[in-house]
Amino acid sequence: MQKRVTVCNKEFEVFIPAEVIDRAVQRIANQINEDMQDKVPLFIIVLNGAFMFASDLLKKIKVENNLSFVKLSSYEGTKSNQIVKELIGLNEIIKDRSVIIVEDIIDTGLTVRRMLDILQEQEVAQVKIATLFHKPEAFRSNYNIDYIGMEIENHFILGYGLDYDGYARNLPDIYKLVE
Ligand code: 5GP
Repeated sequence: MQKRVTVCNKEFEVFIPAEVIDRAVQRIANQINEDMQDKVPLFIIVLNGAFMFASDLLKKIKVENNLSFVKLSSYEGTKSNQIVKELIGLNEIIKDRSVIIVEDIIDTGLTVRRMLDILQEQEVAQVKIATLFHKPEAFRSNYNIDYIGMEIENHFILGYGLDYDGYARNLPDIYKLVE
């Protein structure tokens, strides 16, 4: 594992190693397997950041399921700009389905708030939220997050799907900005 990486002239240090991430992903998978025993959930994977989490999570899911990949981005650079865009890519009929939103990180919570509004308009049976990381200090929404891998302080992080200006999504460990 690289202890430090430089991305776009900024220095990042290792924060959460891959083995710790894997244990968090397994815990979420176990909870979903338990809760969804008699359901066929539709996982709605929020691109781009959740691709690596979703890939590892879905390998650990034992219940029958469907997947849908969507885009809805509200983020630029290192600070949330709070402009939430529209949902692209949801082609499945979701009425009466049990839906699980799969996010990489919930920061202010506005992205998922917007998704919940869109999904609820389409009369889903049930919506659950799974996020690998959550920043409780930054959270400014009022919904319950059903599955949280890890709560973290208000750092900017990258790796394991999360980028800095499009770079470093492929790193297997999570790094945080050296302030
Ligand atoms: P929210 O709408 O909850 O404020 O932001 C959610 C989105 O912002 C995430 O899906 C992610 O793309 C991005 N984001 C939030 N915090 C971070 C972070 O620390 N690092 C990176 N790379 N992206 C983040």
